[in-house]
Amino acid sequence: MKMRNKCSGMGLRPTPQRLAILECLEGNRRHPSAEEIYGTVRKRYPAMSFATVYNTLQALVKKGGIVELTIDPGRRRYDPDTEPHNHMICVLCGRVVDVHINYSLDLPRDARQGFRVTGSHVEFHGFCPECKRR
Ligand SMILES: [Zn+2]
Ligand SMILES: [Zn+2]
Repeated sequence: MKMRNKCSGMGLRPTPQRLAILECLEGNRRHPSAEEIYGTVRKRYPAMSFATVYNTLQALVKKGGIVELTIDPGRRRYDPDTEPHNHMICVLCGRVVDVHINYSLDLPRDARQGFRVTGSHVEFHGFCPECKRR
């Protein structure tokens, strides 16, 4: 029911495909890629194509229901947490975690180049606890 409302709230008809993708992402802190989401959703909807999953993700991003991350050079990843936050990626295994610390990055006037700055996103990279041990 919750997903149904979320979908309608975005102005999208709650189709089974959209609901399945939203359910897969809800509370998912792993920042999955389209391929990973496809792998999960396909278990319940074997007939669903990768293109459908990908197009649905793009529609959800456009409506502001989820966020697309570009932190991973290998693939686009998706985040159901639409509140502004920062990310940290492991350069070895690609694990992405949230960083909920607000950095007030105030750009000096000269550096703004006429922009009215509305937000910023900080990406940290390094080795996660597991990879650090190797
Ligand atoms: Zn790692
Ligand atoms: Zn996140």
